[in-house]
Amino acid sequence: MSTRLAPIPVTLIPGDGIGPEVVSAARRVVEATGAPIEWEECEAGAAVFRKGLPSGVPDETIESISRTRVVLKGPLETPVGFGEKSANVTLRKLFETYANVRPVRELPGVRTPYSGRGIDLVVVRENVEDLYAGIEYMQTPGVAQTLKLITVKGCEKIARFAFEYARSEGRRSVACATKANIMKLSEGTLKRVFERVAPEYPDIESWHVIVDNCAHQLVKRPEQFDVIVTTNMNGDILSDLTSALVGGLGFAPSANIGNDVAIFEAVHGSAPKYAGKDVINPTALILSAVLMLRYLGLFEEAAAIEHAVFVTLESGVLTGDVVGYDRGARTSAYTDAIVGNLGRRTDRWTIREVKPLQLPTVAPDPDFVRPASRAVVGLDVFVESPLTATELGASLLELTRDTRLSLKMISCRGTKVFPPTGAMPELVDHYRCRFVIRENPGDLPDEDVHELLTRISRHHRWMHIEKLQEFDGELGFTRAQGEN
Ligand code: NAP
Repeated sequence: MSTRLAPIPVTLIPGDGIGPEVVSAARRVVEATGAPIEWEECEAGAAVFRKGLPSGVPDETIESISRTRVVLKGPLETPVGFGEKSANVTLRKLFETYANVRPVRELPGVRTPYSGRGIDLVVVRENVEDLYAGIEYMQTPGVAQTLKLITVKGCEKIARFAFEYARSEGRRSVACATKANIMKLSEGTLKRVFERVAPEYPDIESWHVIVDNCAHQLVKRPEQFDVIVTTNMNGDILSDLTSALVGGLGFAPSANIGNDVAIFEAVHGSAPKYAGKDVINPTALILSAVLMLRYLGLFEEAAAIEHAVFVTLESGVLTGDVVGYDRGARTSAYTDAIVGNLGRRTDRWTIREVKPLQLPTVAPDPDFVRPASRAVVGLDVFVESPLTATELGASLLELTRDTRLSLKMISCRGTKVFPPTGAMPELVDHYRCRFVIRENPGDLPDEDVHELLTRISRHHRWMHIEKLQEFDGELGFTRAQGEN
């Protein structure tokens, strides 16, 4: 079908569990279209962990991806334990595939409570930031912390990507789903950046929805959504929900797209209980290969596969996840049917006309945001202490009587507990002690920070500090519950 002669190298990772079965099904279907793909088979995942490599991704695989820049991969098991990182997250982060695209649509023959309502939507999930950066600490023996880092640059990339993706598929709206009402700074950054860039895409309707309501709306009236852009953790959860709306993980493809590299894989994992049984549904990976072909500009081959999948499903050839494993078509027979249906077209179901995706460009500078003015106006010192809040407060007031910084309040698990407010939170040995400049507010020099920490450390165990900053006159921190 393609007029292009030069072979296109693609790194192929069979993966773990059901991975080799779904990858080989997708490979067969792609090859049957005549697409000029030259596969480079590489390892990652369980077998690599077993060889003692904690990243799960060997150098040869990284070298292949750096060269081919396109990957079709099966699911990789994440060992449950300490030390090893998820090989999936490693791949996404190593190659900065910042956009995770998860389309779902109603499919012929796959009966769900939503059948007939025309669900056809895409979750665009930010893929490298948020809680998934994996920056975690035990701050005290009993208190754990995960850092949720959200950057203006990351938000600008993902917001623009969502609009560009909508354009490439002729979609009409982009909803931004965040928890900005609670996490005003981190989740709020995506909302603010989304609302800033939206006017540059006047052809596309845009709106913000709080993520919990988004989940509610997705179950109640999913057909109202077209593209949903969201932060990493929200997107992880919402996209599993959306895949259930159209028949489950067996039908949910995904693409991880960055400026240089794109990785295509099913949303599902390695489903170990079905491994090697020739019973699972390979559609998710076959549709991931369709996304890959479109990314490579092989639009005809992509459409041919999508038509063949639809014709196969319309004809009633369905796998065990849809009709029960005692009656379902075997993975290999289902794949044979799709290959046999290449060249046939469905007339009852529409296949989208897709245009090449324009990846957004943002300035590469690390200091992407440059305020005109900035000042350090105080310090939060996190202290591990077995004392009550009143005892700790009295001690800190005494220790800092003649320092430039004065104790404003202490909070425990986010709620102000000193000076007492009448609140009755459960106390743990993890206090945030907020100090502000006593008089003549201005930019706090580090000497004052050092002096304060020296005083505190004579009597208390501190484990973490945060500077309280203002940028362009805006507070760069939030107040505790109960703090004025
Ligand atoms: P999972 O492998 O996605 O399986 C969960 C369930 O989803 C299966 O038991 C099965 O449901 C259904 N399912 C998944 N894929 C299917 C398919 N192709 N056809 C039919 N049904 C399918 O999730 P998990 O059990 O939580 O994770 C297993 C391993 O995979 C873990 O090590 C996890 O870390 C890893 N994982 C990897 C990726 C990735 O590589 N991107 C993603 C997710 C998870 P029923 O039991 O109802 O039949």
